[in-house]
Order: sequence, then C-alpha cells, then structure tokens
Amino acid sequence: MTARRRGGPAEAAPRVIVAGAGFAGLAAVTELHRAGARVLLVDRNIYSTFQPLLYQVATGGLNPGDVAYPLRALAARRTARFRPGELAGIDPAARRVTLTDGAVLDYDYLVIGTGVSAAFYGVTGAAEHTFGLYTRRDAVALRDHIMARLDRLDLGAPGKSVSFTVVGGGATGVELAGALAELRALDSAFPEVDPSDVHIRLVEMAPALLAPFHPKLQAYALAELRRRGVEVHLDTKIREITGDRVILGNGDEMPSDVTVWAAGVSAPAEVHGWGLPQGRGGRIEVGPDLRVTGQDRIFATGDIALIEGQPLPQLAQPAIQTGKHAGRQIARLMKGQPAQPFHYFDKGIMATIGRRSAVVELPHGLRIHGTLAWLSWLALHVYYLLGGRNRLSALVNLSYRYLVWGHGGGVIVGDDPPAAIPGGPVQALPGAAASSRQAAR
Ligand SMILES: Cc1cc2nc3c(=O)[nH]c(=O)nc-3n(C[C@H](O)[C@H](O)[C@H](O)COP(=O)(O)OP(=O)(O)OC[C@H]3O[C@@H](n4cnc5c(N)ncnc54)[C@H](O)[C@@H]3O)c2cc1C
Repeated sequence: MTARRRGGPAEAAPRVIVAGAGFAGLAAVTELHRAGARVLLVDRNIYSTFQPLLYQVATGGLNPGDVAYPLRALAARRTARFRPGELAGIDPAARRVTLTDGAVLDYDYLVIGTGVSAAFYGVTGAAEHTFGLYTRRDAVALRDHIMARLDRLDLGAPGKSVSFTVVGGGATGVELAGALAELRALDSAFPEVDPSDVHIRLVEMAPALLAPFHPKLQAYALAELRRRGVEVHLDTKIREITGDRVILGNGDEMPSDVTVWAAGVSAPAEVHGWGLPQGRGGRIEVGPDLRVTGQDRIFATGDIALIEGQPLPQLAQPAIQTGKHAGRQIARLMKGQPAQPFHYFDKGIMATIGRRSAVVELPHGLRIHGTLAWLSWLALHVYYLLGGRNRLSALVNLSYRYLVWGHGGGVIVGDDPPAAIPGGPVQALPGAAASSRQAAR
C-alpha cells in the first residue's frame, strides 16, 4: 500500500475501514478525513459508480467512463488509502474483517456502505433472463444488447420487430423506458428502423408509477410515457420470464427480446455471511445513531441500512446523509463523546421521463413537472457527478443528445454482444443480470 502522505493522520489515530465507495461510503470518508482518522476505503471495484445515470450509459447517451470515478485518486485527495477488495466476513470481537482474497484487516471502527442488488421475489426465470442496471458492467451489457437488436432491425428483414420490456415502474424503470422511447425516435442513429417495429413496454405491479410521488405527478409521468409510445401495464403481475417472453400472472404472454429488471432491491446474498442482524429486504438493522444493532463500533449506511423507526427510501440523499452522520459519530466517539441520533433532512425527490420532461417534488408540497423540472434534474445530476472531467464529458454528451436532437448520431456506439448472430436474432445472454453482478466481484 502507499505510504501515508505528509499532513495525513497521526499513526496513533483510530483505524476506520469504510467498505463500499458509493454515496454513503464516500460521504463517510470525507467526514473521517476531517476528524483525523486513518481511513482505509475498500471496494470491489477500482472506481465509484454514479448509479443515477447508468440508464444513459445503457441507451448510448453517456460513455461508461462518464459515470465512474477512480477511487485511488479520490482516496488520495481525502488522505485515505484505497484497497480493492470485497468484504467477506466480519469478526466484531477481534475487530477484524476478511476479504474474499483472503486478506485480514484490523479496524477500530467499521462503516458498511455496500449497497444492494436486484430482488427477484421468486419470479421464475427473472434472475436468468433479465438484465440488471446496478453496475457499470450491467449498463454496458444492456447497451450492447439494445444496440445490437436495433441494428439487426436496421438490416431491414421484413416482418421483424423488437420488444423491450422494463419491469418495475419506479424511477429507474420510468427513466429507462423513457430513454428507450427516445432511442426509437432517433432516426439519425437508426435511419432504416421503422419506429413502429420497436415495442417498449413498462410493467408495474402497483396501480401507479413512481410510488413515492404525488398522484398528479404520477399521472403526468404515465401520460408522458404513453405519449412517447411506451405501452404501460399497471396492476400487472409477472409470473415468469423466459429468453423471449414475459408471462403475466393471468397467463397472458408478451414477446420480449430484452427484459430489464428494475422491480426492487434487497441485500445481496453475501450479507447473510457477515453475522449482523438483518431486517426487511435483508438490510442490516441499525439503531438511531446508525450503529448496527448490538454493535458499538460498526455502522451501516446507505441502501444497506435499515434504521430503527426511520424507514428511508433507498436513494442518494439518505445514503449521503447517513454516510456523513456515521463519519461524524466516529469523530465524536474518538473524542470520548456519545454518539447522536440521525435525523433525515428531506430535500425532495425527482425523476425524469425524457427530453424536457421530469417530475420534481420538494418538501412543503411544492411540485413541478415539464421542462423546468427536467432542467433542474439535469443540472443536479451533472453537479453530483464526481470529478470535473466527468461533469464536463457528461454535460457535452447529454447536450449533444438533447440539443443536437435528430441532427447527428446521438448514440454512443457499443459492441456486438458475444452471442450476437450477424443478421439474425441476438441471443439473450443466459443469466444476463446474474452474471454481470458476479463479474463485478
Ligand atoms: C439505475 C439506478 C438509478 C438510480 N437513480 C437514482 C436517482 O435518480 N436519484 C436518487 O436519489 N437515487 C437513485 N438511485 C439510487 C441510488 O443510486 C442509491 O440509493 C445509492 O447509490 C445508494 O448508495 P450506497 O452508498 O448505499 O450504495 P452504492 O451506491 O450502491 O455503493 C455501494 C458500493 O459498495 C461496493 N460493494 C458492494 N459490495 C461490496 C463488498 N462486499 N465489498 C466491497 N465493496 C462492495 C460497490 O462496488 C459500490 O461501489 C438509482 C439507483 C439505480 C440502480
């Protein structure tokens, strides 16, 4: 590992391991750096991923590098050290973690911010035949399959069509379905594709899209998607997914060449091996100060944490705020002060449907939709990207997509997926969602 930098924390300072470099983990690192702790950041990837813009990578609007930031550079800026690795086990009595590569690391405090992955709720075939959208690899695999399908259509075989199904009408599902509708309309990218040959379906079990939003904004999002040609099925349960179709609870079948699972999240299986108390969705149970129930030196933050008496949505703001809070409580404990309870500050929620269309709901009932909402969504997402270079490249790529609309390629080209047959149907990669998650390890 690298030597400690000049001006860094003292040798005697407490050692803090932060596992997971998402919104929560990075917010904790910033606070711990201020507190003078010796911080070791551990992540299974060598970069941090900005998940909210993954759907843009999947639809060729952004480069994969635009949403990823190198962790070594980031750790060095915050006088932390970075070690690539995957958390495998925790021994609270010995204050030690083990990684899957066999390394054993000692800590005085541990912050867990390892996020969540797809929950398939026992739907037959969902893990094997759907694409996920949680990692950069997921987004690239999905992009390559989407583009290959559209390219095969461009070969002009008569009577051919392609069907994309997005399962789940939360923000991710709505954003992806909206972006797919835009892709279909980009005739400069796929000049020979007849948009009527491209079917985009969004399937949601609940009676409305975007559950946490006001009914007026839900209705707006539904109307906008339908206006853009997305077939939205509400109140619709899925029973089974195969390589080429989606089978509904009532037995109806819908053809689907590419099916994306955006229907829910839970703790990944490996969390069960960490020996910590888990609640709904397998999330780690934490007390009001974010310490894991029954532990005095282990904090859980972000999506993976289930806070006693304070159910928070699995979004960026709760992750940032819980990460910050955990860092600050460790700083207090280092000074011999007691830890304080966490209070969430609601800054509002937003989701985009597509070009010039988004919904924003702020505290105290303030709601906006349409172009202004879309511009705020765009500005905020670009602002929250890590690193000046990423902000600039994302701004250029998104501006090109949305301002030069229809007059240029508009699509960042991908590669043929390994199973593509030139001129013929693209075979779904078996276990697309599951395999990409495994590859991330
Ligand atoms: C497609 C998509 C779109 C979204 N859009 C929005 C949006 O518009 N607005 C919004 O507020 N929220 C959005 N969210 C939710 C938001 O991204 C999450 O709530 C947030 O990323 C959670 O932060 P986190 O730090 O808890 O976890 P993550 O950001 O998931 O970070 C977890 C980190 O832990 C690492 N990791 C995982 N397991 C291990 C392990 N065992 N060992 C070591 N490292 C590990 C991962 O590599 C990752 O870097 C979206 C999520 C997705 C998937």
